[in-house]
Amino acid sequence: MNGPALVLVDQHDGALSSPTRELLTIAREVAPGQAPAAVWLGDAGELAMSELGAFGVGTVYVPEFGGTSPFVAAAAAEALAAVVEVAAPSVLFFSSTFENKEIAAVLAVRLGTGVLADGTGVRVDAAGTVIIEKTVFAGTWTSWCAVTGGTALIGLKAHATEPQEVAAATRPVVETVAVSFTPSASAVRVVERTERHAGGGRPELPEARIVVVGGRGTEGDFSLVEELADVLGAAVGATRVATDEGWIDHSAQIGQTGVTIAPKLYIGAGVSGAIHHRSGMQAAETIVAVNTDSDAPIFELADLGIVGDLNDVLPQASAELRRLRGE
Ligand SMILES: Cc1cc2nc3c(=O)[nH]c(=O)nc-3n(C[C@H](O)[C@H](O)[C@H](O)COP(=O)(O)OP(=O)(O)OC[C@H]3O[C@@H](n4cnc5c(N)ncnc54)[C@H](O)[C@@H]3O)c2cc1C
Repeated sequence: MNGPALVLVDQHDGALSSPTRELLTIAREVAPGQAPAAVWLGDAGELAMSELGAFGVGTVYVPEFGGTSPFVAAAAAEALAAVVEVAAPSVLFFSSTFENKEIAAVLAVRLGTGVLADGTGVRVDAAGTVIIEKTVFAGTWTSWCAVTGGTALIGLKAHATEPQEVAAATRPVVETVAVSFTPSASAVRVVERTERHAGGGRPELPEARIVVVGGRGTEGDFSLVEELADVLGAAVGATRVATDEGWIDHSAQIGQTGVTIAPKLYIGAGVSGAIHHRSGMQAAETIVAVNTDSDAPIFELADLGIVGDLNDVLPQASAELRRLRGE
């Protein structure tokens, strides 16, 4: 590969997000022998530097925003374009969040390059081209895609790999990058910003390793779904029926018109497995389904299918997990 792999850092309270750690691991794998570079939009503190060093980062690029907000997609894209010019990376990895995908789309137009989002895996071919795996057509096909010219902009979903620190941590060099923002990028002033946290101390849905999902079969009572989620340290998700009924917030909706997830474990309770829902969850590594109807379509893709009433099965599962832990 020509040039290092660059990773756009996502952070929570100054610490690297879990998907960012995965991207840094992948960045080392796709460009062996080259220290990955990172780009931090905002003020990178001491904690960030030591964490980036633990993943072997060589250079951290910090664009100078001045009075312009890094939280405006156009401004973030212009800052990244300036970093790409300085760092000349072969590939820029970003986690596939709504915000990052918007930034990447604007950046791709500016750079005249290609952007691929929602990848679930990466490999490099003999010519050094980064190829990503992604499901398409509502999850019915798995495709392998590559950007064939310029700096490849590649978005990966959480859990694309296991994060792995390097044996000997580096001390990243911080390089500030001057940016001349266009008037339109500076025109928006962000007056306040509040990070939305998942309720009940649960992990964020797109990043969670385990997700417990409730559908119409819950008949509006999510307490058993939430109980099992809490025993497992999981996020709570829902079908569109459940969110449209107002049983749970719309941000919990998984599927074609909701969030796309790729957790290690998906547990669906009272979920039929309609095509619009499947497209958002079938990249899960292991799928468990609880449904009273043995002909429910979700059993076609389930690794473990339980034909039964969720009101019986979920409390038993929660109780057994607690018993195994000696609680
Ligand atoms: C354009 C478009 C976009 C859409 N986008 C989305 C999307 O993003 N996400 C999404 O989820 N849907 C989406 N939908 C809706 C989707 O087509 C389905 O209607 C929806 O996913 C079904 O939700 P469900 O599985 O909860 O309900 P149902 O299909 O009604 O299934 C309920 C299941 O629960 C089982 N059940 C009932 N009682 C129990 C019990 N006590 N214990 C165990 N099992 C029980 C039943 O056997 C049944 O299989 C979209 C639809 C359209 C047209």
